[in-house]
Amino acid sequence: MSLLEVKKLTKRYGEELAVEDVSFELTERTSTALIGPNGAGKTTTLSMLAGLLKQTEGSISWHNGTGIGFLPQYPQFFPWLTALEFTEMAAKISGVEAKKARAQSVRTLEFVGLGNAKDKKAGAFSGGMKQRLGLAQAIVHQPKLLLLDEPVSALDPSGRREIMNLLKSLREDTTILYSTHILNDAEEMTDQLLFLQHGKLVEQGSLKDVKTRYAEPRIRVTFKDPESAGLFTGKAPWDAVRDGHIVYIPVKGGHPAIEEVMGYFAANPSGADGVERQTASLEEIFLKVAGRQ
Ligand code: ATP
Repeated sequence: MSLLEVKKLTKRYGEELAVEDVSFELTERTSTALIGPNGAGKTTTLSMLAGLLKQTEGSISWHNGTGIGFLPQYPQFFPWLTALEFTEMAAKISGVEAKKARAQSVRTLEFVGLGNAKDKKAGAFSGGMKQRLGLAQAIVHQPKLLLLDEPVSALDPSGRREIMNLLKSLREDTTILYSTHILNDAEEMTDQLLFLQHGKLVEQGSLKDVKTRYAEPRIRVTFKDPESAGLFTGKAPWDAVRDGHIVYIPVKGGHPAIEEVMGYFAANPSGADGVERQTASLEEIFLKVAGRQ
């Protein structure tokens, strides 16, 4: 079921078009990564969806009863409130009944890994703890849709891993739209990709579809030395491009199949150590889409 439908969303700042004609849908219990270079319009798009910014044109339609949670790129807290006080306040603002707000806040803080720090003041929190507290205030009222602006970019690798794991577990009953620069994260948790560039949606689809559109699959053969690789390239029955002791065989229309290449080496020992099929990484696709390659 579609939870949110965005049609021709546009935001203009004076002469500048920050977001232009962006249309997409979010399906229930899926995660969507909004990716794009700096200034592409990711924060502006999320802020319009969160209701913090009014669009210049276009429409945003919600399915009835969709509660939203929002984690801004730079969450701000009242430094004199403890994590529990802050989360409880956020819960009440988001409509959680007063008598349930405390218990729900305690549970949420435990979920985000702040159980032991719930009575500490947010002013003393590290960047990673602030990010967790930001996530806690975004989910304490159990929204159906979570909007997250760069949820992991301020974190060190272990903090990033923990937050990614939390998000993955939330995905079971929440729809997630998050922006990121970190393409490995997008690759890890994405049903749908939205590529923004200069405010326009230049590519969208499932990770698999986008990869199929952009990736030219190839078979990578590792040889024991560059000489064996060179000898093979000279007599290979397929197009083959050598790079040191590695040879790439482009796959066109499904040919050659990896089994065929393996069969060749079984019949013609040529010093090949390993054969694997590769598709382009999201990083390579991103560079292609962004026209930098
Ligand atoms: P980043 O990855 O750097 O956070 P972003 O993709 O989130 O970038 P936005 O912050 O949405 O991009 O900015 C999109 C464009 O809109 C940029 O060119 C920016 O300069 C412009 N912009 C954003 N906010 C304002 C504003 N309040 N007034 C004028 N221009 C703005």
